[in-house]
Amino acid sequence: MPDNRRFVLVRRPDGTPVPDDFALQTAPTPTLAPGAVLVRNIYASLDPAIRGWLDDAPSYMPPVPLGDPVRATTVGTVAASANPDFAIGDWVLGLNAIEDYSVAVPGGFTQKIDPGAVPAVTNYLSVFGAVGLTAYFGLLEVGKPRAGETVLVTGAAGAVGSLVGQIARLQGCRVIGIAGGPAKCTRLIERYGYDAAIDYRGKDEAALVAAIAAAAPDGVDVIFENVGGIILDAGLMNLRDGARVALCGLISEYNAPAPVGVRNLWQLIVHSASINGLLVRDFVPRFGEGAAVMAGWLAEGKLVFDEDIVDGIDNAFAAFMTLFSGGNDGKLILKF
Ligand code: NAP
Repeated sequence: MPDNRRFVLVRRPDGTPVPDDFALQTAPTPTLAPGAVLVRNIYASLDPAIRGWLDDAPSYMPPVPLGDPVRATTVGTVAASANPDFAIGDWVLGLNAIEDYSVAVPGGFTQKIDPGAVPAVTNYLSVFGAVGLTAYFGLLEVGKPRAGETVLVTGAAGAVGSLVGQIARLQGCRVIGIAGGPAKCTRLIERYGYDAAIDYRGKDEAALVAAIAAAAPDGVDVIFENVGGIILDAGLMNLRDGARVALCGLISEYNAPAPVGVRNLWQLIVHSASINGLLVRDFVPRFGEGAAVMAGWLAEGKLVFDEDIVDGIDNAFAAFMTLFSGGNDGKLILKF
C-alpha cells in the first residue's frame, strides 16, 4: 500500500482558520482489525459543519482531536477488506476523513453505494446526500410550507439553499432568495427558479429589511435560515403571523471570535411565530424516502443541482475556505 496523505488539524483555529492550523502529513497506511475495511477515499464533502468540528466546544459530534485528519463524509472504494460483506472495489459512503485511506467499521454510517444508480457517484455527497436531504426534510418537516405562502431562503445559491428554493417552488410557494453578488442572484432566478433575489453584499440591516419588504410586501411565512447575523435579523422583521423559521445554519458566525447573536427574536412573539433548529441526522431513517422523491423530480426535469469539484488534497484548505468567501458554486467536493 502507498503511504497515506492526511489533511491534519494541528492547531485549533482562533476565529477564521489559517493555513498553519493544518498540515498535510504522510503516515503508513493502517492495517485492518477483523470486521473492518480500508477505504480509498476519492471524494470528500467539504461542509460548513466541519468548521464547528474544529473547535473544542459542545456539539452533536466530538471535536476533531488535534493530530487527527479532518473529519469529512467521503465516497471511495474498498482497497482491502477484513469483512466478508465488503469486497475490494465496492463503492462506499461513510464518515471518514480527508486522507487517502480510512479504516471504516461497517454498520454505522458506512454503507455500500451503487454508482450505476445515479448520474455521477459524487451525487451521493450532493443531491442524494446530507445536503439534499437537509433541504428536503428541513423545508418540508420543519418549515412546513403551504401552497401560496412566501418562503425566504438565505444562503440561497448554495448547496442546501439552491435545493430549498426549488423544493419550495414545487410546493406552490413564492420564493425569495438572499445571496452574495449579482452573478449568484441571476443564477437564483434563471437556474433555480426563484421569484425574487436579494444581493446582501454592501447592505446593512436596515437595507436588508427594506429589500425583503419590497420583495415580500405581505411578509414571509417561512424562513429557511442558513446564514444568521443581520440577515436573520432582517428576515425576522418581515414575518407574517404564524410564520415558521427553520434554523439550518448560521454560517456568518462560524468564524466569529464571539457569537454575534440575534436581536429581533421579539418578532416571534409579535407574530405568534416559531423558530426550530434542524439537524439532518434526525432524518437518517427517512433518507430513502426523501431521495426517492428527489430522484423523481430530477427525472422529470423539475430539479437541478450543481457540484463544485476541486482537485487535489493539497487544495483542501483553500477549497474549504471558499465556503466562507462565497467562492463555491454548488456543493463543494474535494477530489483526491
Ligand atoms: P453552501 O451554501 O454551498 O456554501 C456556503 C455559502 O454560505 C457560501 O457560498 C456563501 O454564499 C455563504 N456565506 C458564507 N459566509 C457568509 C456570510 N458571512 N454571510 C452570508 N453568506 C455567507 O454550503 P452548504 O453546505 O449548502 O451549507 C449551507 C448552510 O447549511 C450552512 O450554514 C451549513 O452549516 C448548514 N447545514 C446544516 C445542516 C443541518 O443538518 N442543520 C446540514 C447541512 C448544512 P454567498 O456567496 O451567497 O455569500
